[in-house]
Amino acid sequence: MTAVRNVLISGASIAGPALAHWLGRRGIRAVVVEKAASRRTGGYAIDLRGKAVDVAERMGVLDGVRAAKTGITGVAMVDADGRTRASFGAGLVSAEERSLEILRGDLVGLLHDAAPDAEYRYGDSIESMKDLGDGVSVRFASGGEESFDLVVGADGLHSNTRALAFGPERPFRRFLDSYVSIATVPNRLELNGEARLFNTPGRLAALYHTPRSEGAKALLLHRTRMESEVDRQAPAAQREHLREVFGGMGWETDRILADFADAPDFYFDSVTQIRMGAWSKGRVVLLGDAGYCPSPMSGQGTSLALVGAYILAAELAGRDEPGPALAAYERRMRPYATANQGIADPGLDFLVPKSGFAIGARNALLRSGPLLRFLSRFDSRLSHAAEAVSLD
Ligand SMILES: Cc1cc2nc3c(=O)[nH]c(=O)nc-3n(C[C@H](O)[C@H](O)[C@H](O)COP(=O)(O)OP(=O)(O)OC[C@H]3O[C@@H](n4cnc5c(N)ncnc54)[C@H](O)[C@@H]3O)c2cc1C
Repeated sequence: MTAVRNVLISGASIAGPALAHWLGRRGIRAVVVEKAASRRTGGYAIDLRGKAVDVAERMGVLDGVRAAKTGITGVAMVDADGRTRASFGAGLVSAEERSLEILRGDLVGLLHDAAPDAEYRYGDSIESMKDLGDGVSVRFASGGEESFDLVVGADGLHSNTRALAFGPERPFRRFLDSYVSIATVPNRLELNGEARLFNTPGRLAALYHTPRSEGAKALLLHRTRMESEVDRQAPAAQREHLREVFGGMGWETDRILADFADAPDFYFDSVTQIRMGAWSKGRVVLLGDAGYCPSPMSGQGTSLALVGAYILAAELAGRDEPGPALAAYERRMRPYATANQGIADPGLDFLVPKSGFAIGARNALLRSGPLLRFLSRFDSRLSHAAEAVSLD
């Protein structure tokens, strides 16, 4: 076998460009193929926490991330009439210097700029691939065929690379009994750097505003034990499903449903984790959501993608064969990925309590004194999970 010098990465969101950066720094060629026609802009608020903040610093993008922070400073839990029942500042969950919130599009832009040597190919995708033992022969949807030393699937929750190398998604999915939708809507409440959340049992409607983008973002999330096909249906059917679930819920919900009808960036998906026994097969390896999606309920998918890219590149560098590097990547990343997947269930219970009693209890906790806030911040599993990996 030969050293890895020529890598194909599928997916140009967070994990892909981050890996391209680290490979470029080590003199390894990176080609990034992305099915979208151009660089992704806009998007919702995501977090960099714990060790991912250190990775951003080592990449030289931390100042850019700080400059592009969403600026959301407060979160209020409201009732059906919009009255605040509880509130907390952005620093409740993690100490501020270890937790930065940024729009996904802003982060994608920073990561792209940090990998100037990478070759980006938009509007294309891997159609098939064949592992030849000493390389992978790839056929692209656009028709060309090329060989690479390694193929990295950084193509998200519904990874094409995973499907080609490991088979259908189903056995690797852990459905978290809920569906999420999000879109940009008019800022009708004239929010200014704040978020409002309204719950009924098993349902959440939220609106937030960041000075970094036009309008407001609206999010609807509901819990259900019935996993259906709705996430694979057309957007019109998904919007209809949301009207059935959320219609008449109260607060701003009916206006959100109406605004979703015109939203060009309407997003709907199941809340799902990816859990796999192995993240690589021969010369194909998975990175970020493709291999170990923790779900939006963990708030840690972006951090896993950034840290995963750093560790994968570090393990590949200077080795003669990819096999031991991929094994070492998995050994180092797996406990961290598992810990962060473990916080999705408490995250869901916090954001979308199942009963009226649980909603009241959560709000009472948030209203309680500084001691409980202190304990909540420093004792939280989230803060621990975010630091649970070594970069050296
Ligand atoms: C509503 C919502 C809220 C979230 N909130 C948070 C949060 O608060 N904090 C947090 O850390 N994370 C959050 N996340 C998760 C976060 O967005 C992901 O964990 C993170 O983006 C993972 O990055 P990735 O690069 O692995 O995958 P993705 O960002 O999913 O990127 C995959 C890329 O692959 C491309 N692609 C797909 N198929 C193909 C193909 N066939 N060929 C080529 N390219 C392809 C896609 O177009 C995309 O650009 C949230 C996610 C959602 C949906």
